Amino acid sequence: MTAQTVTSVPAYLVPAAGSRLERGTIPRRPVGEHDVLIEIKYTGICHTDIHRARDDMGGGVFPMVPGHEIAGVVTAVGPGVTQHRTGDRVGVGCMVDSCRNCDNCRGGQEQFCANGAVETYNSPGPDGGPTYGGYSTHIVVDENFVLRIPEGIPLAEAAPLLCAGITLYSPLVHWNAGPGKKVAVVGLGGLGHMGVKIAHAMGAEVTVLSRTLGKKDDGERLGADHFHATSDPATFERLAGAFDLIISTVSANLELDAYLSLLRTNGTLVNVGAPSAPSSVMLFSLMAGRKTLAGSLIGGIAETQEMLDFCAEHDLGPDIEVVSGEQINEAYERVLTSDVRYRFVIDASTIPAA
Ligand code: NAP
Ligand code: ZN
Ligand code: ZN
Repeated sequence: MTAQTVTSVPAYLVPAAGSRLERGTIPRRPVGEHDVLIEIKYTGICHTDIHRARDDMGGGVFPMVPGHEIAGVVTAVGPGVTQHRTGDRVGVGCMVDSCRNCDNCRGGQEQFCANGAVETYNSPGPDGGPTYGGYSTHIVVDENFVLRIPEGIPLAEAAPLLCAGITLYSPLVHWNAGPGKKVAVVGLGGLGHMGVKIAHAMGAEVTVLSRTLGKKDDGERLGADHFHATSDPATFERLAGAFDLIISTVSANLELDAYLSLLRTNGTLVNVGAPSAPSSVMLFSLMAGRKTLAGSLIGGIAETQEMLDFCAEHDLGPDIEVVSGEQINEAYERVLTSDVRYRFVIDASTIPAA
């Protein structure tokens, strides 16, 4: 099997909604004119992978290969590729293509493609079949959706930046986190801990709102100025009107009115967590103080590159625990019980040939 002719590669698959992952083999398309073949070195485990594997949001196509935090090395390029060369350290996040023609794509917001961005897994691919993600040894991706990983960032740490990093960087930039701004991050998990590091590097005053004080030392080490337990009702009285920006990374429904009460006049509560049930809110919670309830979804390709460069410049990366392919099922269980500090990353060299 030479690099150029990889067509069938080992992977960990979810055979049916809610099943445990199993070893298997998946097809990869031949390297086309504008394609890059990447030998995957590391892939992060995002909580979204677990939502998808369990089909929490519906629309799952099985067997599924999750994984949208991919870091690796280019082993072949198509003849028309200009941006990447063999041997380059590269990454792939949540998207592998989009229409490139709509206003959002032209504006660098491919994640909001009016025709639907092609997600890294569980999306209809160019050949009609579902795309397969990064729990695998190789992937073929159009060069325009491949990111450059700066020298200073080890590949294992680069992987979680491709989803967790950009998902927090984008709203922090959009809502002007920086010196003089008070930012709260709700939930100290994979996304949340990157939010703390990035907001701190941007110069904001950062508060973690976690369910308990169990991660207080970690939060402060990661860059938080303050840490409060949301299980303590006094927290909500004490912090009323305290924040310019609150970003919730929680995968369950929050009591939105309580969190809106923590905003200053004109403040914004941004949700990036993905609970599957609808939320409710008293509209008066928005009217009093002209507050905004918003959402945010990953970030565009150019912005993702900007985030990687920002992380290299500020010498920051995720706290990771590297696991083997055989440990993915156990890692899923540990994410669900918040027993992760703070992102699991799969070492792709442990994915054996099927
Ligand atoms: P994670 O590592 O599991 O972190 C989530 C954190 O939320 C936990 O560490 C925990 O923090 C808190 N939490 C968990 N269950 C809770 C509950 N029942 N009540 C209150 N707090 C709870 O997950 P993640 O990978 O960071 O992903 C978080 C969410 O973001 C998921 O729903 C994922 O699908 C979604 N997501 C969205 C985007 C996007 O583009 N918008 C991108 C990636 C992921 P504490 O222990 O500190 O309370
Ligand atoms: Zn993700
Ligand atoms: Zn588009």
